[in-house]
Amino acid sequence: MPTNSSYPEAPIPDVDLWGFLFERKDKPFSDDKVIYVDPHTNRSYTYAQVKATAIEFGQGLKALWDWQKGDVLALYTTNCIDTPAITWGTHWAGGVLSPANPAYTVDELAFQLKDAGAKAIVTQMAFIKNAQEAATKVGIPLDHVIVMGDERDPTYRVKHFTSIRKTAGSARYRRTKAKPDQDLAFLVYSSGTTGHPKGVMLTHRNIVANTMMIKVAEGGKLSSTGGPGGDGDKILAFLPFFHIYGLTCLIHQSMYSGFQLVVMPRFDLEDFCKIVQERKVTFLYVVPPIVVLLAKSPVVSKYDLSTVRMMNSGAAPLTKELVEAVYNRLKIPIKQGYGLSETSPTTHTQPWETWNTQIGSVGTLLPYQEAKYMSPEEKELKPGEVGELWIKGPNVFKGYLNNPEGTANALTPDGYFKTGDVGYQDADGNFYITDRIKELIKYKGFQVAPAELEGILLSHPSINDVAVIGVYEKEEATELPRAYVVPKDGLGRTDDEKKAIVDWLGKRVAGHKRLRGGVRWLDEIPKSASGKILRRVLKVKAQEEEQG
Ligand code: ATP
Ligand code: MG
Repeated sequence: MPTNSSYPEAPIPDVDLWGFLFERKDKPFSDDKVIYVDPHTNRSYTYAQVKATAIEFGQGLKALWDWQKGDVLALYTTNCIDTPAITWGTHWAGGVLSPANPAYTVDELAFQLKDAGAKAIVTQMAFIKNAQEAATKVGIPLDHVIVMGDERDPTYRVKHFTSIRKTAGSARYRRTKAKPDQDLAFLVYSSGTTGHPKGVMLTHRNIVANTMMIKVAEGGKLSSTGGPGGDGDKILAFLPFFHIYGLTCLIHQSMYSGFQLVVMPRFDLEDFCKIVQERKVTFLYVVPPIVVLLAKSPVVSKYDLSTVRMMNSGAAPLTKELVEAVYNRLKIPIKQGYGLSETSPTTHTQPWETWNTQIGSVGTLLPYQEAKYMSPEEKELKPGEVGELWIKGPNVFKGYLNNPEGTANALTPDGYFKTGDVGYQDADGNFYITDRIKELIKYKGFQVAPAELEGILLSHPSINDVAVIGVYEKEEATELPRAYVVPKDGLGRTDDEKKAIVDWLGKRVAGHKRLRGGVRWLDEIPKSASGKILRRVLKVKAQEEEQG
């Protein structure tokens, strides 16, 4: 029997995202509540301003470019408070939004534009050259590349997104409604951790459902009006809006629940600490690399972060040691959540109450979720048995774009999505994720989870950061666990130090998990913008070393 969520099933409104956010009757906060604020310029949007700007933009899309249902707008930018209005303006006009990583090169961006079939691009002045080059490569006319944000530069003669309505004349257009469970709202691209990023097709219903599910699971712990100034909770938004974690948990949740989002264009630890202190931030969505910094960096001690009531960590494995290290240092609790681009994203989160009794668990199932762990032979497993996690619910994606084979491999005929992650559940419905199937190291007959070894190594007093991969050993025809280590300043980086780390771990794990592939020094662990270790980059490094 699959496990069901134990939450009450708050009904999911049968409307598209515009209807969900802007035509609701039960909004618990006022129209002039400031939802998005830029802490550097103090520019901000109230709920009503987002709505008005989105309508203007949607009108402009229809007037200027004859926007049709299903037309795709690409967004190529760092986090900016204009993103929400552009997103829902695109939906107002019947369109689909495809956000791209601003770190993408021209070729990477061109791949996404072509794959998604984008008709126009919104970017910022800082990225205009790449955007124009990529547009040219895929045949998007240059006048379909426009900008958002504060900066303007007349030399490029590009339009600003707030002016397209004006340049298009005075005709009035009506909003195009979407069919919630059929029409796409977003084409997001997965992180590309295990290969090429995949175009994930998410419907309006997917995002409406997940926003509701998250609201229920946070259990009324966050508020739009509480706190000392009556301003409600303030969330610092540095996770990228182009990734599903930021898109749903930050942009959509804030607008639906009326939390203020303090928007950072990119992460910088000092800036982060300063803003938390000055703006009295109360809640944070984080990823494990940020938790590592909060546990270890000396910068953190210079600031008062005590207004933060809770952090939620997702996107990659987080260990008990790290949660405890941050709590001991800052007295800020961390709970965990879990999800994927394909599930819009959140499927599990820890209830606030259990953050310190179930450390290491990714939590319990959100409303409307059914889940089971499966053996490689596709037999359903019992609590405690380790296998692949499968999930079913209204937040499960429609399929991969232009990839029927990938879709057929990931979705079962009865609606389950195969996550590719391994773990188990306990008898009380707490779920655990140990690692990705693809990243497990196969040492002889054993499987070794790199995330487990990384968790232990991170508690070594001289290690700042670490990643573990399997390196192939020809003579024994097996993979050997190897650690890439960023040492704390002062560690000698000698062969003796390497051996000391191998021995130190050897005393703490079973024999088959020892670092038989040795230790290598690195200055930085390669990670994706969404907070994941890019083990494939290290695998290439290992192969290069092998070939001399
Ligand atoms: P790609 O599918 O392109 O290789 P990706 O899977 O990293 O990249 P995302 O959809 O951004 O792309 O991430 C989903 C993955 O993140 C999950 O499959 C899982 O491996 C990992 N993940 C998310 N939350 C957690 C968590 N709390 N603990 C462990 N892993 C997590
Ligand atoms: Mg994936």
